[in-house]
Amino acid sequence: MQQSVTFPSGKVDYIFFRKDAYAKPSFEQLMHLYYMEHVIIITDEHIAKLYEPLLRGYKTLVVPPLESSKDLHIIGSLSRQLLDLEAGRNTLIIGVGGGVVTDIVGFLASVYMRGVSFGFVPTTLLGMVDAAVGGKNGVNLGLNKNLIGTITQPKFIFYDTAFLNTLPNIEWSNGFAEIIKYACIFDAGLFDELSANNISYYKDDNEVLMSLIERCVAWKNKTVFADEKETGVRKLLNFGHTAAHAIENMYELPHGKAVAIGMVVACMVSENITHLGEAVTERVKALLQLYHLPVSHAINAVKAMEILRADKKRKGDRIDYIVLEKIGQAAIRPLPFDVIENALKEYASHN
Ligand code: ADP
Ligand code: ZN
Repeated sequence: MQQSVTFPSGKVDYIFFRKDAYAKPSFEQLMHLYYMEHVIIITDEHIAKLYEPLLRGYKTLVVPPLESSKDLHIIGSLSRQLLDLEAGRNTLIIGVGGGVVTDIVGFLASVYMRGVSFGFVPTTLLGMVDAAVGGKNGVNLGLNKNLIGTITQPKFIFYDTAFLNTLPNIEWSNGFAEIIKYACIFDAGLFDELSANNISYYKDDNEVLMSLIERCVAWKNKTVFADEKETGVRKLLNFGHTAAHAIENMYELPHGKAVAIGMVVACMVSENITHLGEAVTERVKALLQLYHLPVSHAINAVKAMEILRADKKRKGDRIDYIVLEKIGQAAIRPLPFDVIENALKEYASHN
């Protein structure tokens, strides 16, 4: 199935490629749809190795499969390699990989020669439901995550769930952290559906998995369409991410795990701010655990606060924080730092 969304900064085609779940990924349909004189694929070392036969015949640039690849020196080195390959206005750059690859490719393609065409083939669940969607891209500046980037939409996002057959279990859980986030902030029906099932249920039925991915993509698109530049509702997508960003680098946690912990902290803050029932926090925790995500972690609340105070979303002594009003409904509240500090301390004291 193919659908398009026209955002203020450009039109994106979403291609949900349905086929036998056991078939290997193929680019045949993609190349048929987007014939370009000159295609260059950018991927990471794991994907390059796992999918060597698929990539054979394409000009391919490869980056290390690490968050540390999201760095300006890699952008410089890839630009040089693009130039050596004579990449120009007639080139289509395709990012094949998880969030690291799509972030790098989105940024690189939007600045190389002031912008060339690019598309994404996300190969992680997290990439499919979140990282590849919405046009945000960027690289880190030291410990400052995604400090340098643009909002530029890809030409297309091609979904082929056959890539997920090789995805490690931990990466499935990471993807479910963002899926649970959508359920918490937008979709009580999805929360119930997730609570009644588990990872295997989605893994074992390709149609069920595709519907889940499409449902999450629809929520993200609706939000980004309304507020591409994140001045309002798009902020809701940051639920769980304030605390997550504070602890992710400090404890070298995978993003999904950090977000899971961040969502528990956000529920605790919500208990004080929106009078969210404790029972709701417990339901969120139970759902996270069902998808093998952490709900407790020893946190140095004082250190986490130091990082939070340097957050790019800070406004004076307050920060726009996303609280839950009930399952399926969230709100943006400018909160003083001490409210968050108290919640972090309370969280830390339970662990
Ligand atoms: P995210 O989408 O979570 O941001 P990353 O780009 O950090 O993901 O990728 C997470 C890890 O999963 C990396 O080591 C990457 O090489 C690996 N990976 C990505 N896609 C696949 C896949 N389809 N099969 C196996 N490993 C994969
Ligand atoms: Zn996230």
